[in-house]
Amino acid sequence: MKFLRFFGRILIVALVVCLIGLVYLRKTQPETGQTSVQPNENVAPSPVLQSPGLEYEPESSPEPTEEPEPTGPPLPDIDLNDWKYKLVNKDYPLGRSFVPDVAELEGGKYFDRRAIEYLKEFIAAAREQGLEVYLSEGYRTYAAQEYIFNGKASQIHWGGGTYEEAVEKAKEIVAFPGTSEHQLGLAADIMDKRYTYKDPDVIGETETLKWMREHCTEYGFILRYPKDKEHITDFSYEPWHFRYVGKEAATYIMETGICFEEFLALYD
Ligand SMILES: [Zn+2]
Repeated sequence: MKFLRFFGRILIVALVVCLIGLVYLRKTQPETGQTSVQPNENVAPSPVLQSPGLEYEPESSPEPTEEPEPTGPPLPDIDLNDWKYKLVNKDYPLGRSFVPDVAELEGGKYFDRRAIEYLKEFIAAAREQGLEVYLSEGYRTYAAQEYIFNGKASQIHWGGGTYEEAVEKAKEIVAFPGTSEHQLGLAADIMDKRYTYKDPDVIGETETLKWMREHCTEYGFILRYPKDKEHITDFSYEPWHFRYVGKEAATYIMETGICFEEFLALYD
């Protein structure tokens, strides 16, 4: 009897140990491959985990969907030879003799006579909003651009190096004569009166410039040198520089988020 009771106890202990073992295995086993991999939205799942054998299903990536048909405004039916669409950049400079017909806007600043009313309305509308708009630049002559450029080159040259090197460095900061849109008479630098220093990241975030960006197309203007198009325009981001291109082109350019160069290329 004693032996049987002893054997019985051993059996019960063995059963309990087996049960505990089973419970433990249940807890750890079935979730392997799911809990060990936490799908992270920022990290692409590694190719190994995507192999069908592991049945890995990233929770964060949605079902692949069909590329939606690009829907946007229709390309305006315009004549690119019109004065409004004249391209000026480092590849298409203006000659010394290019002088547009300009009229005075305010504070000794001039603008192309054919578009000056639109700029006046644009600035007046911003002022009606209580914004402190300051027109810092309008039309600039070739000679004025040359003066500014040579001044910058000389300043750099004084700091050391050859004059040729200074000219190359100056080109990165100031438009080379002929390549500035201001000579065209259709570009205006619009600033907030309280910020006179042209720091793009500061100026671009002022209420004035935010409003100008949102409403420029209503008056036929575009932001000519956007932040994400520097590699195309070859000009650094200038939140204050607005160019007149007419309402049609302006609306298309600003709504699709392209730059002027990209817009013109659509007609090739
Ligand atoms: Zn400008």
